[in-house]
Amino acid sequence: MDDRLFRTAMGKFATGVTVIATDVEGDVHGMTANAFMSVSLSPKLVVISIGEKAKILEKIKQSQTFSVNILAAEQQELSMIFAGQIKEPREVIFDRLDGKPVLAGAVAQIACEVSAEHVEGDHTLFIGKVTDIKLQDAEPLLFYSGRYRTLLDESTIPSN
Ligand code: FAD
Repeated sequence: MDDRLFRTAMGKFATGVTVIATDVEGDVHGMTANAFMSVSLSPKLVVISIGEKAKILEKIKQSQTFSVNILAAEQQELSMIFAGQIKEPREVIFDRLDGKPVLAGAVAQIACEVSAEHVEGDHTLFIGKVTDIKLQDAEPLLFYSGRYRTLLDESTIPSN
């Protein structure tokens, strides 16, 4: 199986888009990520998966904290900034939630403390214990088949 087939198949799983952020001695670093899921309700745990080449990897190992910011539809530009798809440096202001850096306007801001890390292949999985959450009523940004998307009300399928 070649890498392209694997990537194409994984891209068929439609997701939201998050920016993971962490703070080492006041220096905030963010990275766009869609490898995120809820793990456990009691205790409240989430997981993120960070590639071995990502600069944020060492920063999360150092800080032992991170935030997950689930982006709103109008925050595609932030996703592009934190994925390195926009090359010119931009100033991004972070708010704070339970001391962790978070993005204003995100659909959900989730503050976490690292409770475990597992190296698996070329990624590290960080299990985050959720310490605080702030929600905002907005439509989410989506990612599918390598492209940004948004929800369309017309395509909503009743679940019952
Ligand atoms: P850098 O390359 O240093 O940072 C990324 C960009 O963010 C740079 O342009 C930098 O200038 C900017 N930046 C960082 N901090 C700040 C700040 N405080 N203020 C302003 N700008 C800042 N990779 C994964 O490992 N896991 C995933 O789940 C994942 N999912 C992705 C989902 C999508 C939709 C996309 C588009 C990419 C995804 N990636 C994922 C790839 C990842 O986002 C990129 O490889 C990223 O560039 C790696 O970031 P880095 O930590 O090496 O940081």
